[in-house]
Amino acid sequence: MVNGIQIAIDGPAGAGKSTVAKMAAEKLGFTYIDTGAMYRALTHKALTDHIDINDEDAMKRLLLHTDIHLLPSAKGQAVLLDGEDVSEAIRTQEVTKAVSAVAAHPSVRLLMVDKQRQLANNKGVVMDGRDIGTDVLPHAQLKIFLTASVEERALRRFKENDGRGIHTSLEQLQADISERDRADSERKASPLRQAEDAILVDSTSMTIGDVVEKIRELAEERMVR
Ligand code: C5P
Repeated sequence: MVNGIQIAIDGPAGAGKSTVAKMAAEKLGFTYIDTGAMYRALTHKALTDHIDINDEDAMKRLLLHTDIHLLPSAKGQAVLLDGEDVSEAIRTQEVTKAVSAVAAHPSVRLLMVDKQRQLANNKGVVMDGRDIGTDVLPHAQLKIFLTASVEERALRRFKENDGRGIHTSLEQLQADISERDRADSERKASPLRQAEDAILVDSTSMTIGDVVEKIRELAEERMVR
């Protein structure tokens, strides 16, 4: 690796992966790649085009005719779907509820993983998702499995939504998060699990700053080796 190392951050929904991945990438001068945004963008397109998200062939075909670009932006990363900025649109409840079904299709994953590996090729990256350490970047020099209690994750999402003017009950958020974790962990194609060589970071009682600092330290250790 010429300009840095590969850092894989995996973990369940709402553990703060994208927030810390974005900040760690900034500190290290690496590229941040949000793989969840790619599955969300495809899901958004399927819902808009009224394509059956449970039809694997239809979803694969759709992906083959879809252009997904992740661009660095002031907010960390903009998501372009066929040239249109969908950074906000992919965060709706509707997309969040449907995305795990889309991500469970093996042929969709194969194409996505291929794109993700190309994006990470030959540069310092922080990539977050569910299967980065286990499947996308199995040789990543640093692997983090970031988690927190489901109560804490729901509370964080509640506050985040509140700040955006979206009002959902805490109980509903907790139920949605648990259901997404179940679907992501029980699917056959590269389910969510901790890679054997990943470092477990439980952020339940850590601040975002603490987690970012820990990742930065671990990354620097690996860069001087
Ligand atoms: O990270 P985020 O919550 O945006 O991910 C949305 C969904 O995309 C996850 O719940 C999961 O179903 C899927 N995903 C995945 N593999 C990844 C990243 C996300 O299956 N590497």
